Amino acid sequence: MKAFPRAAPLAVAGLLAASAFAGEAVDLAAIQRIKAEAFRNSKVMDHAFWLTDVFGPRLTNSPGHRKAGAWAVTRMQEMGLANARQEPWGPFGRSWTYSHYEGHLIEPAYSSLVGFPLAWTRGTDGPVTGEPVYALLETEADLEKWHGKLRGRIVLVDPPKPQPLLSSPLSHRFSEAELQEEAMAPEPGVVPCREFRLGAFGGPCPVLSPADAARRRAFRRKMQAYLAEGAAVILQTGTGASTGGTVFGMSFGTADVNDPETPCTIGLTPEDYNRIVRLLDQSVPVKAAFDVKAGFLPPADSFNVTAEIPGGRLKDEVVMVGAHLDSWATGTGATDDAAGSAIAMEAMRILKASGLRLDRTVRIGLWAAEEQNLGGSRAYVKQHFADPQTMAVTKEHDRFSAYFNLDQGGGRIRGAYLQGNDAARPALEAWVAPFRDLGMSMVTIRDQSADNRSFDEVGLPSFQFLQDDLDYGTRTWHTNMDVYDRLQKGDMMQAAAIVASFVYQAANRDERMPRKPLPRPAAPAPPPAASPR
Ligand SMILES: [Zn+2]
Repeated sequence: MKAFPRAAPLAVAGLLAASAFAGEAVDLAAIQRIKAEAFRNSKVMDHAFWLTDVFGPRLTNSPGHRKAGAWAVTRMQEMGLANARQEPWGPFGRSWTYSHYEGHLIEPAYSSLVGFPLAWTRGTDGPVTGEPVYALLETEADLEKWHGKLRGRIVLVDPPKPQPLLSSPLSHRFSEAELQEEAMAPEPGVVPCREFRLGAFGGPCPVLSPADAARRRAFRRKMQAYLAEGAAVILQTGTGASTGGTVFGMSFGTADVNDPETPCTIGLTPEDYNRIVRLLDQSVPVKAAFDVKAGFLPPADSFNVTAEIPGGRLKDEVVMVGAHLDSWATGTGATDDAAGSAIAMEAMRILKASGLRLDRTVRIGLWAAEEQNLGGSRAYVKQHFADPQTMAVTKEHDRFSAYFNLDQGGGRIRGAYLQGNDAARPALEAWVAPFRDLGMSMVTIRDQSADNRSFDEVGLPSFQFLQDDLDYGTRTWHTNMDVYDRLQKGDMMQAAAIVASFVYQAANRDERMPRKPLPRPAAPAPPPAASPR
């Protein structure tokens, strides 16, 4: 077990002084039962298996997403949960799916080309064979140079991606020093970056000015319009850490029916992509062939999945746990976010199977369209609690206690984000204590934004867990390698035990969780669009 760093006692004392919050009761007998159920009878990897290996990728409203939604309802009914159902919301826009991909390098020497179509792009309408053209489209001048010359062509639009020697480990567990740093509040006056990883441990967010952001959007629209004039196939290589056969790639079009349909766009591994660019650069004749069956699905409403364990003496009050059921269309969305969905479902199973008394009602939410501006959870919050644009709140809003979100990959839980809610600190610090010897040692005032943000926007207490990165940033996040094999069973079991325990404590504590002041009505939310996160 040496891969799991054990917290040094001194470091833990520095991170967490639980005795300072002795007022928060912790039901250690219940936690013992939760741990026993979680570690002896775990089903968490079985939930994950169905969501990934069986249903495949789960782009919102795609066949895989809908099958996974139906399965989740049935499985939670089998667990004995009440009111397991799909709750419709909409409109979502059009969905997208693909059923066939072939890519071949034919000349100068045969090779299969490892890749996949990017979401919301068309198929090829039969096999396409030809000489690729390298048309870097990075500036307005590039667009003018290639305007009208790409019809019927296989077009490479990205610069080649250098592949330096990998000299650091591909996966990472947070050190106590890193957790210490993350436990500190951000420097006043510095807006911490909300983005994955940077937000966790980096400095200020690189902010794009509204004018620059608008310019970037306009350029991208123009590039897509030019390509839509007739390119047969667009080749891209992944963003970020794409290397070693791993492609970080999401979409090259959107769910919005008013946006143009983008031609067939394929994310190739950087190694295959770079080879084609080198060959063209040396004027060696190249022939490539692609055949993709992909297509848009008509606009439709979407759904969230919910289920409950009814509470006892405070049954009208609600504690929620959740994750997003949807994923990108690459890989099988294992760490993003079948892992969170499986952990949340397993937490519900543990609570039900252990027979523990729950004062408040506990409800799970498996959201759609997290990857499209938190579409599902925002719709749910609006349906049940409050419209962030008016901040007119419902009775359910009054009776809500807390929401716990899981969307940081499948790594073991090391801490909890307070999401700026200082008043919740004593409770969360007390709940962390029984899990120190399982690697959880801190809470932080910082925030990590995912579906929990939808609750935060209407002033409801919401929390996210800090999970070990593992290979989320290097191998799995929005990649073709986000698959079941990247999930770590021990980590998933640890996370389910902790989540069940936190939900149990929140459901049974005397008071509902303390709240931040109610936010002011917000500016209109952006429409669902195929943007990352
Ligand atoms: Zn996610």
